[in-house]
Amino acid sequence: MTSGWCRARRSGRRSRHHADWIFAIVRTEPGSVRHAGLSYLLIPLDQPGVEVRPIRTMLGDSGFNSVYFDGARASADNLIGEPGSGWTAAMTTLGHERATSVLNYQFSFAREMEQLRELATRRGALRDELVRDRFVEAFIGLQIMGYNNIRSLTRALVDGRFGPEASIGKYYWSRWHQSFTELAMDVLESDALLGTEWDDGPDEASAAMRRAFIRARAETIYAGTSEIQKNIISERVLGLPREPKPVAS
Ligand SMILES: Cc1cc2nc3c(=O)[nH]c(=O)nc-3n(C[C@H](O)[C@H](O)[C@H](O)COP(=O)(O)OP(=O)(O)OC[C@H]3O[C@@H](n4cnc5c(N)ncnc54)[C@H](O)[C@@H]3O)c2cc1C
Repeated sequence: MTSGWCRARRSGRRSRHHADWIFAIVRTEPGSVRHAGLSYLLIPLDQPGVEVRPIRTMLGDSGFNSVYFDGARASADNLIGEPGSGWTAAMTTLGHERATSVLNYQFSFAREMEQLRELATRRGALRDELVRDRFVEAFIGLQIMGYNNIRSLTRALVDGRFGPEASIGKYYWSRWHQSFTELAMDVLESDALLGTEWDDGPDEASAAMRRAFIRARAETIYAGTSEIQKNIISERVLGLPREPKPVAS
């Protein structure tokens, strides 16, 4: 193959407005099914036949887009790995996304926790022992997240790849952050409802917490939903039987 045509929709690429390239998993072997016959291709975005439609999020911004291809071209030189090995490459990419994204999230979560501690102190919320209890639980969760990261990194250093254990980290941090931002909303009480554009309100720290709460809703969906992470952990980490396939009607 010297070049190829693409006619497909690729949804959810982040920051296309900043990107020059996109990767896509494309079917390069006609008649192949499921995971076979797929290839991992880099496609230049600055060409006719590529249309980018921003997706507006609950925060009102457009951090990612639907990208439509209709007759766009890509050179065979832009193939990553062997033709037909796209699924393996995609799983490696996802393993990195799940494992490495959590590395920096851990530090931003620690910063959010410090911000919330200051906010809760100012608002007198820490006089409530149930709020203090949830703070301690959140802190313990953050430490566990750190140990999970070390485990993932150690595995990558030993094996040269992130294994299915990366799913444990993804499942854990996304649920932790939802629970933590729910605590933040309880600390803010009715002030959690203030701010129409999500950037005003009583103060910047409160506004940042509200934005984090909204953003956290999607965190159990992107980079693989929580249900999919549980499937991976059950089958590829615990070795449990594969889930039954739906019966064709
Ligand atoms: C904010 C955000 C950013 C995103 N960014 C990107 C991006 O940059 N690049 C990209 O490619 N995609 C991106 N996505 C898309 C995201 O990866 C998908 O939305 C996600 O993988 C779920 O797929 P789906 O929407 O097709 O839902 P479906 O696959 O239709 O799933 C619907 C529901 O069914 C459950 N489900 C599905 N299959 C099973 C199963 N076998 N067992 C149990 N439960 C199951 C799911 O967990 C989910 O709850 C983004 C999504 C969001 C919300």
